[in-house]
This record gives sequence, structure tokens and C-alpha cells, in this order.
Amino acid sequence: MPGMGVDYASSVNRMREIPGAWRRTAFGAGLLGPDGSTRPTIFAEMSALAARTGAINLGQGFPDEDGPPAVLEAARAAIAHGVNQYPPGRGIPDLLDAIAEHQLRFYGQHLDPHRDVLVTAGATEALAATLLALVEGPDDEVVVFEPYYDSYAAVVALAGARLVTVPLRWPDFQPDPDDLRAAVSNRTRVILVNDPHNPTGAVFTRELQDEVVRLAERHDAVIVTDEVYEHLAFDGPHVPIATLPGAWERTLTISSGGKTFSTTGWKIGWIAGPSDLVDAVLAVKQFLTYVNGAPFQPAIATGLRLPDAFFDDIAEAMRAKRDLLGSGLRAAGFDVSVPSGSYFTVMDAAPLGATDAAEFCRALPERAGVVAIPLTAFASPARRAEYATLVRFAACKRVEVLEDAASRLAALAG
Ligand code: PMP
Ligand code: GLN
Repeated sequence: MPGMGVDYASSVNRMREIPGAWRRTAFGAGLLGPDGSTRPTIFAEMSALAARTGAINLGQGFPDEDGPPAVLEAARAAIAHGVNQYPPGRGIPDLLDAIAEHQLRFYGQHLDPHRDVLVTAGATEALAATLLALVEGPDDEVVVFEPYYDSYAAVVALAGARLVTVPLRWPDFQPDPDDLRAAVSNRTRVILVNDPHNPTGAVFTRELQDEVVRLAERHDAVIVTDEVYEHLAFDGPHVPIATLPGAWERTLTISSGGKTFSTTGWKIGWIAGPSDLVDAVLAVKQFLTYVNGAPFQPAIATGLRLPDAFFDDIAEAMRAKRDLLGSGLRAAGFDVSVPSGSYFTVMDAAPLGATDAAEFCRALPERAGVVAIPLTAFASPARRAEYATLVRFAACKRVEVLEDAASRLAALAG
């Protein structure tokens, strides 16, 4: 396993890259190669494998068709009309307004668009700027649910803080509240909650959300949410933690247009929250990217104002794709965890004799012409054994592609 059983101090001698302070923590989190070298993210590695082998890419979570024409057209029109220079630091006023309207329409939240909202270069920059803004140093802890989206551990390392994880366990991936209580302490600066959850597809219960708020209040922590799959919840409307009693004052809500409008390459994200916290994030954001995506900002504003039917339809379409992928995986002989949201489905390859999901995924293009991602890629070295046979498949592909993948995977049942 990369990073495991190798001492940082000895590997650092062999590193050809310029060592940054963050490398020590990044190495500990298993983010660097065994010799301390930079390696591509698991998404880049697996997409390259798909390209090399011609396998169907159910690894990296990006849609294989375009989103709403009105959104695409708005970007084209913006470029044609000269919206090509630096936008304002917080984001263009029309997008700030559209984000506030969206939070009111879907969640009943009243935001001051010009004080409580900030546009970022995707949710990724929002997360990075937030953690860099809120975390002071090595004594600060950031609590995350594990497995976690890969950038969390990297950014906590960049911020020089300590990652503390709460395990999500097969097959329903709901956290045990006792584990959460044990993880949060007065050292906790941030509790980071991704819901709906990547990579497991879990949607957290209201009780769990309430417990997050109670613990954050008790230990004076900030809640940071990653809600990029907010419109891909299958079992009922998504509930942002910020809307729960007592949460607003200490919560930063992060989302992005990438998943909702199938524009993952545009990197338009945002943060909503109390203005003092948002200002702290803006202070960092302005020195990371300064501003971003001028012509895409009005286009995402257009998207956020699409009628309710659009948002209902994308959740329904993704639910149908989840079902299609799930039945294909079951037919191939896998045990499947049925996700309540997101792009993703996790299955257990143990019934097919797998003992190492990473090896299984490397061999899968050859065996079945499909690419997937091992769950170990989303786990810290100490917990990888727990996810050793679990694999994540992405359902955000065209129906015919999922059907093709299902029939290829059926060969495994053989
Ligand atoms: N958070 C999660 C949970 C994700 O799955 C992703 C990947 N799309 C991101 C953040 C990054 O979002 P963006 O592309 O808007 O930076
Ligand atoms: N969010 C996508 C996933 O989880 C891909 C993000 C990336 O490539 N960094 O698959």
C-alpha cells in the first residue's frame, strides 16, 4: 500500500520534488508514493487506464453527456458578449443573487447575497480556502467521515492540521454516533460533512445531523458541509445542516454547479454562511485563484434558476441509473450497497474471490472491459484493511453505456 511501512524521513532523501511543509502530513495520509513522490490522483490513474484499454470508465465521476442547453447557451452568449475578464472577487452579483434565490427556493434559507455568499473555483477551492482559513496549526483537528473524498486529506495536510476520521461501515455506511462523539473534542476546529456522500452514496439521518450540530456547539467547532450532490438525493429532499436549529451561525455550506448541471469542467462552486466566516474564506480565496470562470458564472446563475422540474428530473434520472447499475452488479455476483444519493454505488467484490480491491480494479479492464475505483483510495492507511474488497462504480453515464457495462460485467458471473 503506498505510504505504508515506509518511513518519511528515509523516503524524503529520495524525493526529487521540492519538499513542502505539507508533504510530511500528506505522506502520513497515504497521498504520496512509497518513495515520497507525487502520484496522480486515483481518478487520473483510472481514467488513463480506461483510455489505454478502451474499457468503459465507471471510475471517475463525470457525466458523459451535456447538461441543460440553456446553461450551455448562456456560457456561449457570455463569451460572445465579452464577459472574458476578471469578475468581482466575491463572484458576479447575478450569480450571488441566484445562489441566494436557490437556497431560499429549496431550503427556505434567507441569505444576504452580497455578504453571505462567495463564488469559488469549484467545491474543491471552497474546501481548500475554508480549511486554510479556519485551521491554525498542528494542534487543530478536522473531523471527517471515512472513506472520504480524496481532497479532504490533502487539504488538511496543506493546512498543517490533523485529520480525525469517523468510520462508515459496509453495508449501509451510516456512522455510529458513538464514533462521532469519540472523534470530536475541544481540539476539533472543523467537522466536515459530505452529504450525499462520495464515495458511499450514503445520506445521513436527521438524528446524525442533529448530533453534528450538538457536538459542534459543545466544542465550539465550525461545521463545513460538502453538498455537491444536493440535487441527487433519491429518498426525499436534501436537508442542509445549516438549516437545522442552532446550526447557521457556525456552518459553512459548500456546493458546486458541476454535478447539478453536468459541467464538472467549469469549476464554479460556492460557499454560503454567516458573513464573518465567509469573509475569512474570501481572504484566502483571493490569494489562491483571486477570481474564476467569468463567462461560466452567468451560465450557472441561469442553471440555478431553472424550473423545479429540471431538478426533479435529474434526481429521477440518476435514481434510474443507480437501479440499472445495481442490478447489473448483482447479476455479476457482487454484493451491492444501495446508495441513497450521489453518482456512486459501492459493491463488495469478495463474493467473486477478490481480496484486494486495488488489484481487482487494475485487472477489471482486462477481465470485463470496465473501470472502477477501489474504496481504499478514499481511506487513510490505518483503515484501508476495512475496505479491502470494496469497489466504487459511477452511474453518471448514458443508459446505453450502463447497459453495455452491465452485460460486460455479467461475464464475471461466468
Ligand atoms: N466534493 C465531492 C464530494 C466531490 O465528489 C467532488 C467531485 N466532483 C468535489 C467535491 C469537487 O467538486 P468541484 O468539481 O466543484 O470542485
Ligand atoms: N468527484 C469525482 C469523483 O469522485 C472526480 C473528481 C476528480 O477527478 N478529482 O469521481
